[in-house]
Amino acid sequence: MYLERGRAVVIGASIAGLLAAQALSKTHKVVVLERDDSTTQLVLRKGVPQRRQLHVLLAQGAKALAELLPGFTDDLVAAGAVLTDPQLDQTYYLDGRAIARAPSGLTSINVSRPRLEHLVRQRVESLEHVKIQHAEALGLITERDGAVVTGVQTTDPRTPQLAADLVVDATGRGSRALHWLGELGASTPDSSRVEMDVIYVTRHYRWKAHHLDGRHGLLVAPFPGFPRGGAAVHLEEDQWAVVLFGLMGKDPSTEEAEMLAFAKSLPVPDLANLMEAAEPLDKPVKMRYPASVRWHFEKLRQHPAGFLVMGDALCSFNPTYGQGMSVAAMEALALRDLVSAGTGGLPARFYRIAAKIIDAAWALAAGGDLRFPEIKGRHTPIDRVLNGYLDRYRLAACVDPTLGRTFVQVAQMLVPASAMVSPGHLIRVLRGSRRALPRDGMGFPVPNSSGAGTS
Ligand SMILES: Cc1cc2nc3c(=O)[nH]c(=O)nc-3n(C[C@H](O)[C@H](O)[C@H](O)COP(=O)(O)OP(=O)(O)OC[C@H]3O[C@@H](n4cnc5c(N)ncnc54)[C@H](O)[C@@H]3O)c2cc1C
Repeated sequence: MYLERGRAVVIGASIAGLLAAQALSKTHKVVVLERDDSTTQLVLRKGVPQRRQLHVLLAQGAKALAELLPGFTDDLVAAGAVLTDPQLDQTYYLDGRAIARAPSGLTSINVSRPRLEHLVRQRVESLEHVKIQHAEALGLITERDGAVVTGVQTTDPRTPQLAADLVVDATGRGSRALHWLGELGASTPDSSRVEMDVIYVTRHYRWKAHHLDGRHGLLVAPFPGFPRGGAAVHLEEDQWAVVLFGLMGKDPSTEEAEMLAFAKSLPVPDLANLMEAAEPLDKPVKMRYPASVRWHFEKLRQHPAGFLVMGDALCSFNPTYGQGMSVAAMEALALRDLVSAGTGGLPARFYRIAAKIIDAAWALAAGGDLRFPEIKGRHTPIDRVLNGYLDRYRLAACVDPTLGRTFVQVAQMLVPASAMVSPGHLIRVLRGSRRALPRDGMGFPVPNSSGAGTS
């Protein structure tokens, strides 16, 4: 029971901002500022151009969402989301081979990005203490020479200044937080970057039960020497979302024949077969994502009180790992638990926990990208040793479902990557990598027959 509610302003009503509002709604009166018009909820809005691209919700993200928004999994299912076993109903092609397909007992929830955001927004909008306001945040209002943030300047003439005890910046990659902090004379954080320059092309197709031999999705991951990949996911309303992507600027075209040629160049035929068999529903859409960027707020000694940065504004990841929304949900959950214990020293406490959440995701995404010697980033000797082991792990996971399951759990952020180097797994990797198939004459690894199929 809170005798007096605080006042919070959250900037940005996308996934991170909406979930932050939910997290704060028990302790604060929350105003969420969003520069996009709310009438564009289920359509493709300007502020989040990536909404048109395939998004996957990792199992750990789904768990965090369900904890923040009780009953949310039921909302997703009622809206037509497709529940699948990620190791049985989908195929992960790693280094060109399928990991062993087997029932894993895990569940993936496949839902389109606009639908997911719409459902989150509906839930958050219905909260008594949350109001979503159509306005742009222009800057911070501060006291004590910038040591305390006390509000936000907005474009709304009715509320040009909104007072707040807590301001949360959830404005995504284009966040102006660093600029605002610089203006206050506050310290700004260093960043880590991995420049993988990924280009995405997504197109939707009509789903039919016989496509992909009844599987509900696949991922063809890029690997050193072959910086291209693709994925297909069965979504609500009988749709396939198909994405083709190239690292280091290897550019999939949006022109039909060239897209197909790109898909045919992948080490397995599944995606090309699907694209040939299925009816296209829209025009392909392209997006470029130059680098994963992480801002190390956790390393700053001092933070202005009453101001937090979260979601993509804090760290944005190579989208091929599908982590952004899940990390935002996990951060929101951490925020909820932290504020329930009080707001004293909140920024430092929040960044400390957020850094741990981000560490786990960053290790996967940046670690995977740094397998490519051409990708700029901090390549360490430990990464090289670990990547050597993980090469063997991926090979062994083609023949050993237990290794496959752990890989899926790690990829879904359910367990830490260290699970792949447990003593039991080391032995399995040694044995499995000997049993796995050799590479073919083309230089591609031979795809595992259990996963390769036709449409
Ligand atoms: C191509 C691509 C594919 C992706 N695929 C996946 C995936 O498969 N799985 C996954 O989990 N994640 C994926 N992501 C990442 C995911 O989209 C983000 O992590 C997610 O949207 C959370 O971001 P966010 O809420 O922090 O910021 P954003 O989604 O970028 O939203 C920021 C919001 O702030 C608003 N805003 C900005 N400035 C202001 C201002 N000054 N005042 C008011 N409002 C403002 C914007 O209009 C917008 O609504 C992908 C990203 C890309 C680019």
